Amino acid sequence: MKKGYNIAIDGPAGAGKSTIAKRIAEEMGFIYVDTGAMYRAMALYLIRRGIAPDDTERISGLCKEADISIEYRDGEQTVLLDGENVNAYLRTEEVGNMASRSSAVPAVREKLVELQQKLAAKADVVMDGRDIGTVVLPDADVKIYLTATSAARAKRRYLELQEKGEQAELSQIEQDIIERDYRDMHREHSPLRQAEDAVLVDSSELTINEVVERIRELCR
Ligand code: C5P
Repeated sequence: MKKGYNIAIDGPAGAGKSTIAKRIAEEMGFIYVDTGAMYRAMALYLIRRGIAPDDTERISGLCKEADISIEYRDGEQTVLLDGENVNAYLRTEEVGNMASRSSAVPAVREKLVELQQKLAAKADVVMDGRDIGTVVLPDADVKIYLTATSAARAKRRYLELQEKGEQAELSQIEQDIIERDYRDMHREHSPLRQAEDAVLVDSSELTINEVVERIRELCR
């Protein structure tokens, strides 16, 4: 069976991965796979069961029981947790913080990587995450490592929250970003790093259109 055409986009939180990946997927008629949403769904599962973020042992055991699957409805990725569409609950700070910790547990990664590889085997995908080019799709056709300074990423997040009318403090957001990066880059299993054959794109001084154009060029 011919494998699908795979584009892998990795990088730290807030670099613009999902916005860019969605745009590329739309233009190319590919499926966009947001792997962070899967780690978030697992985090939600653990939160609902009252598990502490540092209770590695219980996370290892319980994660095997979570039924996480993906469906595409009108082109949008829908994450189903035990059959329930949980998309609306995934983007909170609480879920993000739990995901940042529980994603370091090998049993969690094993389970979700398998799901991700299955999706990529049967379709043309743009997949974003932290370990796509290094672990999930080492043979991806195009690999991008999309990053930006923590200041630029914090500012984007701050503006996003302001637009939603939510209170936030810029320095606190940047501090959270730095801590999350540190955990992603220093965990033992599948840490965030640029694959040797990935192209580095720094979006700090680029517009969304400029980043998309750069990736289009690489695909050509
Ligand atoms: O990208 P997003 O912020 O939605 O990801 C949530 C968390 O899931 C991240 O903080 C990261 O720790 C984890 N993650 C991961 N591997 C991926 C995608 C996300 O470890 N491929």
